[in-house]
Amino acid sequence: MNPFNKIVVTDIIELLPDSIANQIAAGEVIQRPASAVKELLENAVDAGATEIKLLIVDAGKSLVSVIDNGKGMSETDARMAFERHATSKIKKIDDLFSIKTMGFRGEALASIAAVAQVELKTKREKDELGTCIEIENSVVKNQEPCATSIGTTISMKNLFFNVPARRNFLKSNASEMKHIIDEFIRVAMSFPEIVFTLSSNGQQIYYLEAGSLKQRIIQILGNNYNAKLVSVNEQTDYLNIYGFVGKPETAKKTRGDQYFFVNNRFIKSAYLNHAVNTAFENMLAKDSFPSYVLFIDLDPSQIDINVHPTKQEIKFEDEKIVYAFVQAAIKHALAQFSIAPSLDFTLNADIQNLDAVHKPFTTEHKQQATASNLFKTFTGKHQAHKIEPNEKSELKHWKDFFTTRPIVEINNEPEVEQKIQYNQLQNVESLFIQLHKTYILTTNQAGFLLVHQQHAHERVLYEKYSAYSHNKQIATQKNLFPITFELATPDAILLEDLMPEIITIGYQIEPFGNNTFIIQGTPADVGTGNEKHSLELLLEQFKHFSSDIKYSKREKLVRCISRQQAIKAGTTLSITEMQNLLESLFQCTTPNVTPTGNPTYIEFKEDYLDRMFGKM
Ligand code: ADP
Ligand code: MG
Repeated sequence: MNPFNKIVVTDIIELLPDSIANQIAAGEVIQRPASAVKELLENAVDAGATEIKLLIVDAGKSLVSVIDNGKGMSETDARMAFERHATSKIKKIDDLFSIKTMGFRGEALASIAAVAQVELKTKREKDELGTCIEIENSVVKNQEPCATSIGTTISMKNLFFNVPARRNFLKSNASEMKHIIDEFIRVAMSFPEIVFTLSSNGQQIYYLEAGSLKQRIIQILGNNYNAKLVSVNEQTDYLNIYGFVGKPETAKKTRGDQYFFVNNRFIKSAYLNHAVNTAFENMLAKDSFPSYVLFIDLDPSQIDINVHPTKQEIKFEDEKIVYAFVQAAIKHALAQFSIAPSLDFTLNADIQNLDAVHKPFTTEHKQQATASNLFKTFTGKHQAHKIEPNEKSELKHWKDFFTTRPIVEINNEPEVEQKIQYNQLQNVESLFIQLHKTYILTTNQAGFLLVHQQHAHERVLYEKYSAYSHNKQIATQKNLFPITFELATPDAILLEDLMPEIITIGYQIEPFGNNTFIIQGTPADVGTGNEKHSLELLLEQFKHFSSDIKYSKREKLVRCISRQQAIKAGTTLSITEMQNLLESLFQCTTPNVTPTGNPTYIEFKEDYLDRMFGKM
């Protein structure tokens, strides 16, 4: 035995070198090019710029550059800006509770400098010469006075050049570009008074002139919103809500154009989204989602934004009040524009008189607030959301809204085991009865089945589309005349990204430049005249799914198209159609549930029926 193999281990803890510590910390803030875009745009906004240009090369993997005409930095500040926890936006801990700027953690520039090569050029109005700094891997390579225009230009080159593992983790250019555009839109939407431009690989994608919020929304979401926006505007002492909701006809099949900003910060909130949905209740087709761009401004002390640096979630001091205001404000707006038939209460006066609104918040005031008349009107029968004093109950309704139904168990046997052979059906003289244009009642040897026609068809289509692949393509139905159509930029990028998968499910599409595409053919299940609509719907549904990392792109598309093309509940079926559907269903590998786990049929066995009637 070689005695040198045995190393004597004593102390084992070491301090990480600064460069590694910085890279680890940077991982929290900068995950992809879009994270840098968000931080740099927000810094330009905080600097008071009136014009902000974003230049992207190679989906931000080679270059993200932000040019602003804001207040610029002094020579010392320019150097300091790259230190971790260096910020001009808070000085003491109390400032955290009154933040009005977008940034405050002093981490963005330090993080970017830790994982990329950075060039900064900046000049204040009063200075004759500006400052240029080059930093790489958190190390200053060069700093010198230079001639530059007023404001700041920051260029981030070769993101993750020093962390190859993370660079490899970046997604396709189309996907990274989509994230960049999302961040760009979120910042541009909340500052319509600032001119924003975005160019990618030398091509201008957006030029957003300064204007009103409405103009900005139309510039971003498209001209089809013109004359279809209803203005929302409620001012109270506790909070202000303003912005626009789309008239019911602009509602989408999936959550598409939905934007919430709290103190100008884009946030995601399923809870507030629910408030908007319920305000629209009965005005929208089932399964469609309203479009909205809404701004909530309230005292910064009533919210906590000091959560994870990149999380788009915030905590409200009192969530219920915000929910109630959002819902009421939208109902009010819809009623004023005669979109909703009536209004159950007058909003402004009541809300203004509420103790909760004009007095500081204490537990006592909260109790008074929940007991007040306004809150009682919220619990009235036309108000979908009930505010109940019971702490947990108000969430119940909301949860129901999101959870999918569990698989039904009949006869105490788990549904999965209930696979029935079709020959079992054939052996008896099957009877097919359609109930409520939704269910098919049919007999089998053991008893009878109640089949949900839409669920059943979704399963059949799902297995059919899943069976096709790149080598084995599905039957395509050629269009007599090619159909051209144009998409909004983010959708065009998404479609290009999905092209190879979309082709395998039977679409024949080609890009035609300038966000335009030509449809030459569609899957045989898509009816003539529906080609464009079906594709738009597919993209919408895909977006709905897109954050779900469980599934591949192809799997998501297959799920979307099967759901989209399934015979809908409410469609009358002939005996032959019912018979064909059931035949195909029981040829499936998993006939008993839809891809999302809803039952396709329920079996009622004879002995179960007997037991129900007390015969056993
Ligand atoms: P934070 O924005 O949280 O303060 P950052 O790391 O993003 O932290 O920026 C650090 C500081 O650098 C800012 O507080 C600001 O003083 C300065 N700074 C950053 N970007 C700009 C800019 N575009 N114009 C002027 N000053 C800037
Ligand atoms: Mg910042």
